[in-house]
This record gives sequence, structure tokens and C-alpha cells, in this order.
Amino acid sequence: MLPDYHIHTALCKHATGDVTEYRSGAKKQGIPEICFADHVPNPDGYDPAHRMALDQFSSYREMIEALQNGETPEVLLGVEVDYYEGCERFLREWLPAQEFDFVLGSVHFIEEWGFDNPEERHVWDSADITATWRKYFNVLLKVANSGLFDAVGHLDLPKKFGHRPKEKDLKEMVQPVLDSIAKTGMGIELNTSGLRKPVGEIYPSPFIVAMAREREIPICFGSDAHRPDDVGDRFALALDLAREVGYTDYFRIRQRRKELVRLPEA
Ligand code: ZN
Ligand code: FE
Ligand code: FE
Ligand code: ZN
Repeated sequence: MLPDYHIHTALCKHATGDVTEYRSGAKKQGIPEICFADHVPNPDGYDPAHRMALDQFSSYREMIEALQNGETPEVLLGVEVDYYEGCERFLREWLPAQEFDFVLGSVHFIEEWGFDNPEERHVWDSADITATWRKYFNVLLKVANSGLFDAVGHLDLPKKFGHRPKEKDLKEMVQPVLDSIAKTGMGIELNTSGLRKPVGEIYPSPFIVAMAREREIPICFGSDAHRPDDVGDRFALALDLAREVGYTDYFRIRQRRKELVRLPEA
């Protein structure tokens, strides 16, 4: 089984279950390693409804450290950083000071619009789909160029409710982002939460994963579980996808250093 590198905790206010339940969920499936990557705090008041407060970070860390007791699966300390204009002011110094194993960079907002939030889904009804995706990838390019992150989370998240640009437009938009990811040594995650969303597809799409493969961008796997039952959700499909486009390895990470590991045999 593959490690699950994208698991949330109740501290983000929209996940359920205790961290021990996430770990037992992983153990039952024979998952060797998990990484909690809960939404990062940011003292500038960004989207407080979906994250821990800065003064809760020590309890997050302690909760995870308590699971680092030699039992399997091994538990890593990570965060999912929501990137937005200006977030570096805090993160540039704070992130490297925290001894994270894994820092995932994600984009959930275009300007003030939480485009993947079901409560703001109606905004899509009057949005120009291609222009919206273009804006999204412009933000993602900053994520890739920032040097702050180890991997990009759910790389084609704007497809969540089924809104997609034409493939030729997508290709042209995603190319510079993948080039930058490759150049800076970042990875991407194959995130199975898309299978639980209206789009019904892993993030990113096979088309993009194939483009990542061409650039030898390392991959990892994440369920984006917000409840213990979703740990390792349909990783067999993600593994198939990785193999289909020619991947033979994935990465594991410790203290932000990646190591390539062979994918399990078919
Ligand atoms: Zn979340
Ligand atoms: Fe996310
Ligand atoms: Fe997440
Ligand atoms: Zn996520």
C-alpha cells in the first residue's frame, strides 16, 4: 500500500474524528505511512473559518507527535498551505522554523472567491470558465515559483463541480506551471478526493499527470480525508493512473527531503 500524505484534523473546523482514528483507518488498510496536512494557520486573518488559529498550532503538533511512538503506520507532520497574495509575509519565516516533514501548497481562492467552496459554487454560473482557470493557474505559478512548498495539492481543483476549459486551452495554461514545478524540484500529489466530488475524477486529470510525467515531476498520493473513513480512499485507482502514464516511482518525504521509492508491482 501507498502512504497517504494528505489528511486533515478536526482543528480545521470542517473535519471529524480523532487523529488516532485516522491512524487506525490507515493501519486497517496496511498503509505504511501517513502525513497530516491540515490547513495552515495565518495570523493575518485569512479565511479563519477553515483553519486552526495560530495559538492552536502547538496542540496540532503535540497531537501528531504523540502518534510518533514507533507504531505503524508512521505519522508525519505536514501542513496544507493555502496560497494567496501576501501569505509569504508570515510564511517565509514561519514555515522553515516548524520542523515539518511535508509542506503542501494549494490554491482555494481566486481573488476573494473561494471557488471550490460549495457555498460559493453559484458564482461559477456567471463566470467565464476559461478565464477563471487562467487566473487560477496564474496564482499557481506563484506557488511554484515561491520556493516555499514541497508539492502542489489538487493541481486542477477548479474542475471540482465539473467546469472545465477546452483541452488545448488547458494545455497552454498548465504548461508553464508544470515547467516551473519541475525546475524548482517540487512534486505533485494524486489526490483522490476528486472522486468524492461532483467531477468524479482524481486531481489532476490523466492529461495533466501525463504532462507531469514527461517532466519527471515526482508524485505522491493523498486522500484529502476530512473523516477517518476516507483515509487511503481508492488509492488503487490513483496507482493505476500513475502507472498508465508511465510512472515507476513515487516520493516519500522526511524533514522536507524527498526520496524516490518504487511503485508497488501490479
Ligand atoms: Zn479542508
Ligand atoms: Fe485543499
Ligand atoms: Fe486538504
Ligand atoms: Zn485539499
